[in-house]
Parts: sequence; C-alpha cells; structure tokens
Amino acid sequence: MKKIGVLTSGGDAPGMNAAIRAVARKCIYHNVEVYGIYYGYQGLIEGHIKKMELGSVGDIIQRGGTTLYTARCPEFKTEEGRAKAIEQLKSHGIEGLVVIGGDGSFMGAKKLTELGYPCIGVPGTIDNDIPATDFTIGFDTALNTVIEAIDKIRDTATSHERTYVIEVMGRNAGDIALWAGLADGAETIIIPEVDDSFDDIVDRLNRGHERGKRHSIIIVAEGVGSGFDYGKRIQEATELETRVTVLGHTQRGGSPTAFDRVLASRLGAQAVDLLLEGKAGRMVGIQNNQLVDHDIIEALETKHELDLSMYQLSKELSI
Ligand code: ADP
Repeated sequence: MKKIGVLTSGGDAPGMNAAIRAVARKCIYHNVEVYGIYYGYQGLIEGHIKKMELGSVGDIIQRGGTTLYTARCPEFKTEEGRAKAIEQLKSHGIEGLVVIGGDGSFMGAKKLTELGYPCIGVPGTIDNDIPATDFTIGFDTALNTVIEAIDKIRDTATSHERTYVIEVMGRNAGDIALWAGLADGAETIIIPEVDDSFDDIVDRLNRGHERGKRHSIIIVAEGVGSGFDYGKRIQEATELETRVTVLGHTQRGGSPTAFDRVLASRLGAQAVDLLLEGKAGRMVGIQNNQLVDHDIIEALETKHELDLSMYQLSKELSI
C-alpha cells in the first residue's frame, strides 16, 4: 500500500487532531503517501483531498476540533454516493482509508471496505459510546471540561442553599454523567442505563436536606431527557430552590488532555499499521490498556457497557 487517506467524520472530539497527526506521521515514517480528506465523507464525494507533508500536521497535537473539518453526509448512505467516493479514491490512487469518528462513520467505513477499499476505524467521540474499546478519543477531555464547570457551580452552590441540576452530553450513553458524578461527588446521577425511580431521587434529596446539606448536585445525562424538565419536577416535588445548567457544546471543545493525546497517537498509528499489514474493515481500540482491533460489524453488534459498580459506589460515597 503506497497511498493512504485520512478523514474525520460525524461529531468532532478533542484529540482528533492528534490522531490525524499520528496517521500522517506514521505513513511518512513508512514512506507511504498520505492524503487529508476534508469535510468527512462529503468532502470525499466532492474531491476535497490534499496530499499531506510532515509540516501539514505540525502544531495541531494540542488543538481541539479537527483541522480536516467534519460533516454529516446523507448522500454517503446511498450506493450512488459511495460510488462517487470510490471514483475519487481511484483518481487519487488512494488504496486505504483511516476513518476517525463514531459508530455512524464506522458503518460507512465498513461499506467502503465491502466495495474493495480497505478502511480502519479510529473511535473519536466525546460520548465514549463505542463498544470494543474502553475509551474513545475525546471522552477524557470532555469529562475534565465537565468537572471544571461543576467545580465552579459548586462554589456558588455552597454560598446559597440550592439544588443544582446539570445536564451533560453523551447521546444515549451515561459515561460522561457517571464519571463526572463520581469525580465530583454529585448527590445524584441520572443515566439511561439505570432505571432509578423519580420518587427515590426525591427521597434522597429530601433526606440530604433534612440532614443539613446546604446544596445538592444532580447530574442528568442528555440520554434521559431534558435537564430543565428534571429541574422543574424536582423543584415541585422537593420545594427546594432549583437551578439548571445545560453545559452544551463547551463539552466538545478545548485542548485535549494528555490522556486523549496519547490515546489518539497510539490509535492513529495502530490504524496505519493494520492497513500496512493488509487488514481491513476493523476498528482499533484500547482494552485493559492494550491496543486491540476488532471487526467493525462484530464490534458494533456488541453492547457498550458501563461499569455500574461505579454507579453504586457514587451512591455509597454521596450519602
Ligand atoms: P458518528 O460517526 O459520530 O456516529 P454519524 O452517525 O452522523 O456520526 O455518521 C457520520 C457519517 O457517516 C454520516 O453522515 C454518513 O455519511 C456516514 N454513515 C453513517 N451511517 C452510515 C451507514 N449506515 N452507511 C453508510 N454511511 C453511513
């Protein structure tokens, strides 16, 4: 394989740039030409493709977002769209592709592989919702952003007697909420994976208030619904003054943490190695601190699991 392409697709995540850098540098290290494909699959279809040099990825390891930009591309879900993408790959002589993104992007990568174009998926999403890897690129940075915000809310929370509801991202996964809740000693964590009754949540808050707690922090994962709805219901049920903060897209930005930079560097380089070994249709990941790779379809058919012992622990520690 003499020419490899790299693109970022779906939602952006801090650390994607470190992964792009690793792909580019690892290719050049192996004397393989590397091409940056801009705007995800959309840019692939439209031919936004540029050869990368060593300097193309200089000074990006510390930057959030993705310097290759990203886009959603409904056309790529059609056979005609994918045929156009293949024409572009052929005309540039690109023989293999590294796709950095989430599960949707991986489905696209699998379909291209089935059409004879070897692809490797690198998990990049703040949600940590991809099976077959313990961590995705961007999760740790998003988590630290959330912690910083909650710490600030705590400062004002201790000054007033209030209940604070904080809605965090994560799509259908509760990872950000659970890790943030444990890291920040939240009184209550509401996540899609656990069906806690609303009455239990109210009981816990009331008990805490009776014991003299001056404030409570409740973290709501976006996958269970709106933080504002929970805030309203909690205020009505407990009669405690309640404030709601939706952290929103701040969670997607910022300079990646050391953990995400290292993870992205390892996974990006691993993807290139797999292509050069002749492997295709696989996703890379990290499990028990070991680099692993799995067939994309088999991986996506398994369920992403949260370690619910952490949920129990957070309850025990926040009594
Ligand atoms: P993410 O990769 O973050 O999960 P999306 O689900 O939006 O984000 O997927 C990103 C892009 O991947 C889509 O816009 C589309 O171009 C492509 N894609 C998603 N699902 C498929 C599919 N089933 N077949 C082909 N391409 C897909």
